[in-house]
Amino acid sequence: MLEKPLSGLKVALDPGHLGGNWAKMEERWFQVGDTKPVQEGDLTLQVARLLAPRLRQLGAKVSYVRNSDEPTTAKRPDDFRELSKKILIKNGVPQPRAEVLDSSDPAKEQTIRWQSEILFYRYSEIRRRAVRVNFKLHPDLVLCLHLNAEGWGDPKNPTLTDTDHLHLLVNGSYLAEEMEFDDERFEMIRRLLSRAFDEELPLADSVALAMARETGLPPYQYPTTNSTTKVGTSGYVYARNLLATRLYRCPVVYCEPYVMNSKDVFARIQVGDYEGTRNVNRVEHKSIFREYADSVVDGLVDYYSKARCSRDR
Ligand SMILES: [Zn+2]
Repeated sequence: MLEKPLSGLKVALDPGHLGGNWAKMEERWFQVGDTKPVQEGDLTLQVARLLAPRLRQLGAKVSYVRNSDEPTTAKRPDDFRELSKKILIKNGVPQPRAEVLDSSDPAKEQTIRWQSEILFYRYSEIRRRAVRVNFKLHPDLVLCLHLNAEGWGDPKNPTLTDTDHLHLLVNGSYLAEEMEFDDERFEMIRRLLSRAFDEELPLADSVALAMARETGLPPYQYPTTNSTTKVGTSGYVYARNLLATRLYRCPVVYCEPYVMNSKDVFARIQVGDYEGTRNVNRVEHKSIFREYADSVVDGLVDYYSKARCSRDR
């Protein structure tokens, strides 16, 4: 094996979501009793900060697509009020209400508030991250870091489950209605012509196998839908047309390990980060953050050690 197997590789780390004060708005927040709230955006950033030095040690040049709990976009929900109103009217809500009554309000998705927030934290934020990736960072690879969850119901009284699993996503599996949009069709074709897929899929398989080995998690099975397609050889990788996997103009590996509201993962998140191993729920574990980061590193090393040797031959 090469001494620095990732030498010269430009990796951009994209910790999913925002966390911090935005976590509740993003609906990436839950709290059990008075324990530490679980905020996906904070967890992914913590993983990224462990990953960066490990990758640098192996020779990679690492950048962050996000390295704080503040948005990348300069826009805020209020900037989208007019647009939200137009969207709601076009979608058959002639007089959309301004505000959500409470978080369990079944009609909340038809309010200007909810629409403006989603345009902010999903569309505007991810499009701004794409500008950063495509025009500033120019990486060879983007790693999108997420943790998965099962429906937790009331975020202040969440359901904890025994289910835990792992999957990774690459871009693909476009729906007919998505391809009716000129921009999505264009972005799909640009991706196909760039042949990012040729590297993206074996890379995702390699990272998936390392993560499966080190976490022991079974593959997630999507409910039958045509918006996802199982691809590759590991059994853990799906194609799905997400904004980030479509817009970033380079191979993108999108990781979805761990069910945050599974009993074991929840307990491990509460314990936080530590060196070595500790007994959590009667099993010796590395910290969940280190296990995540280490397994991604090992997957990349597996892939690039092989890919680069065969290229040198
Ligand atoms: Zn996520």
